[in-house]
Amino acid sequence: MAKRDYYEILGVNKGASSDEIKKAYRKMAIKYHPDKNPDNKEAEAKFKEAAEAYEILSNADKKARYDQFGHQAFEGGGGFNGGGMNMDDIFSQFGDIFGGAFGGGGFSGFGGGGQRRVKGSNLRIRVKLTLEEIANGVEKKIKVKRKVQAKGTTYKTCTTCHGSGQITRITNTILGRMQTAATCNVCHGAGQIIDKKPADADEQGLKFAEETVSIKIPAGVVDGMQLKVAGKGNEAPGNGISGDLLVAIEEDAHETLQREGDNLHYDLYVSLPDAILGTSKEIDTVTGKVRIKIEQGVQSGKILRLRGKGIPSINGYGRGDLLVHVNVWTPKTLNKQQREFFESMREDEHFTPKPESTDKSFFEKVKDMFS
Ligand code: ZN
Repeated sequence: MAKRDYYEILGVNKGASSDEIKKAYRKMAIKYHPDKNPDNKEAEAKFKEAAEAYEILSNADKKARYDQFGHQAFEGGGGFNGGGMNMDDIFSQFGDIFGGAFGGGGFSGFGGGGQRRVKGSNLRIRVKLTLEEIANGVEKKIKVKRKVQAKGTTYKTCTTCHGSGQITRITNTILGRMQTAATCNVCHGAGQIIDKKPADADEQGLKFAEETVSIKIPAGVVDGMQLKVAGKGNEAPGNGISGDLLVAIEEDAHETLQREGDNLHYDLYVSLPDAILGTSKEIDTVTGKVRIKIEQGVQSGKILRLRGKGIPSINGYGRGDLLVHVNVWTPKTLNKQQREFFESMREDEHFTPKPESTDKSFFEKVKDMFS
């Protein structure tokens, strides 16, 4: 998608003053703030877009480059990362925007300063799934030990940074006095510290609790894939946000079915008489057993394709097939009577191989399998 014009994003004209730009951005940031639009991807995109536009237009040098060259000014390592800003960058920018107007806790989620919201750490678990569960999708209830704020823990504004999460330092350089901001080393940027906590809580006021988390696993997942359950990782102290629960998918080997992408393979063994006379056989599928017909005179190596009996595609389009590989099983030993019977057939012309053009070669079959 083409990048939108930064002025257009903020709804200001090219001659707008820095004050007008700031005001316009403040309006957008409030309107599309994630706290106000939970789980709204469109709002999140707009929020990020506005932040990126403000990042450029609020900086005289970047603005001048943008006015002259447009978006090209920042492509190819030109300073600003073209992939947009992450949430931490955006929130850290807020001290500047909301510091004055919203001081004193007027803006939810930031406590009125320039602090960034501390995020709890992520938790990782592995979930083993059978092929049937993968094929049909499943909801798993998993016991998770996660850190939560201990009952009786209270937090107060950090006395070192006074809740801003940052410490400002003034240094004298040859260019003059420079002001630099660093993350507060007492509250680590949260703006809050522990007021009271029970004895069994850790230094952040957290303690382990066991919780049953319900995880919806869509059909078609693949071994090694990672799903994210937002907010089910460790809680953060104070008004921070919880980390995520990262679920790694592990696929249990199936007794008879082998997975290859969305397709499944099944090795079917038929006896020599069954191959010669034809029969029907019960085979496993991910939705239960089905009976299939084996034509009289079936050749070893034939592949029967059961359409749509494979794994649904993870992106929701279609389903793979189940490929049944026919193997004619030949006995290694014979009794006297059997030996005599086959000896008598040896010279019978009817048993001489006469491959037909419809009996595809091995390579044609392989080609077929992937079509
Ligand atoms: Zn602090």
